[in-house]
Amino acid sequence: MDEARIKILGVPFDPLGMEEAVERIASFMAVDQCHLVVTANPETVMKAGEDRELMAILQEAQLVVADGIGIVWAARCLGTPLPGRVPGVELAEALVALAAQRGYRVYLLGGAPGVAAEAARCLERKYPGLVIAGVQHGYFSREEEEGVVAAVAAARPHLLLVGLGMPKQEKWIYRHRQRLGAAVAIGVGGSLDVFAGKVCRAPDWMCRRGLEWLYRLLSQPQRFFRMLALPRFVLKVLAQGRS
Ligand code: UDP
Repeated sequence: MDEARIKILGVPFDPLGMEEAVERIASFMAVDQCHLVVTANPETVMKAGEDRELMAILQEAQLVVADGIGIVWAARCLGTPLPGRVPGVELAEALVALAAQRGYRVYLLGGAPGVAAEAARCLERKYPGLVIAGVQHGYFSREEEEGVVAAVAAARPHLLLVGLGMPKQEKWIYRHRQRLGAAVAIGVGGSLDVFAGKVCRAPDWMCRRGLEWLYRLLSQPQRFFRMLALPRFVLKVLAQGRS
């Protein structure tokens, strides 16, 4: 890494905005190794605090960016500001756009059966020239896992978008990174649902005001318990800021 990473409750973040993150990821394409990119939000940071495996993966990832306003706020609060937020779904779409321009092959893995295929159709319509190297739903069994890894490797994608939810997707990529044959693999949570038109993103005015979390809570109330990580995150950051 060129620049010092910024630590938030032990999780290292690369101080890059959206454009710089896309540029950095583009530079990974030329290197023959699977690069793990993580878009981490307060929930990820809180989870890493209690899950050593996830923390180790975040520390080894080639790039960790601030997914959302909570991380940007925390960085400022701790006196080590980050340049801005890099929402996972926007980063994933920017990378797909770049892939369409440059002819990178993209593999979509995750979501309920049919979602990745529908996301592929929607993205191909939106980004002419996009090459989808393969699709795979995210509800395969342990026994099917080897076949899934082999299919990804055979497709040799430049960009592998993995939407299995956090932290499953990060652990899955990490576990198989040496055999995936992908230049870049990134966990994208529910982004494939968004690309397939199954889930809507918050309206722009809410995103601009840092209220995307509120939209998600109102539209997916089943997330309530998971989102309790947010106030716990705020309290921990405030406590660390004071110490
Ligand atoms: N998912 C999956 N396989 C699983 C569990 C989840 O493919 O075993 C998918 C699920 O269908 C959804 C995504 O993972 O598309 C999780 O979305 P969410 O917005 O909850 O992501 P997170 O916020 O956890 O990153």
